[in-house]
Amino acid sequence: MEEYEHARKDLQQARDIEIISDTGDLQELVDYFYAGEPCFLHDDRNHWTECAVCQKTYPDALARIETIHNAVRERVLQRIEGLYKQFVEEFPDSASAVNDSRWYADRIAALTSTYSVSIIWRLYFLLPEHYWKNFSVLPSPLDSAKVRPVSDCGRILTSLSPDALHFLFLVVLATEVHQALYDKLWRMSIPVFFGGAKPGGGLETYDNPDGLVPWAETIE
Ligand SMILES: [Zn+2]
Repeated sequence: MEEYEHARKDLQQARDIEIISDTGDLQELVDYFYAGEPCFLHDDRNHWTECAVCQKTYPDALARIETIHNAVRERVLQRIEGLYKQFVEEFPDSASAVNDSRWYADRIAALTSTYSVSIIWRLYFLLPEHYWKNFSVLPSPLDSAKVRPVSDCGRILTSLSPDALHFLFLVVLATEVHQALYDKLWRMSIPVFFGGAKPGGGLETYDNPDGLVPWAETIE
């Protein structure tokens, strides 16, 4: 197949579609995509739907992508169940600690630092389309340009056990709380903007009375 004929010249997706069609072992493909980035399957699907070459050469690829994606989603759910079990073992409820605010702080820190990345990364596999945003437990987050409701992952979430689903929402909520605190403390800790080098030598600095983060506004 001539690679330059592919739509939009996204050759990685064209190669993926070839692999998807030529690899008989579904489990091998699930392993491959589960270990990759959540956007890969979305990108491959988008490529196929716009590429006449792939549609003609690999007519069954789209159905196979759906099969793989469903299997990857099932594995994501299993992994979330596993993370929940791990959390229960490492941070058991303690009747004697429930009046101890330190205990709650530790749990929020644990939910965030240990599970946030693992859970949120996997949630991207469950979304109907590729979209990098933070998640919120709120159904209609205020900052919808940067945050989307975790319910956008769809009904598949209800396949989780009630305890694991609860855990999932706790992790997302703890991440939201922690992020807000982190932003606030981080801003307070930066009293000055640092400018560039002065023409005559040395650094030019500026006061930062509002505690703005010099670079964070540009980081998505
Ligand atoms: Zn193609």
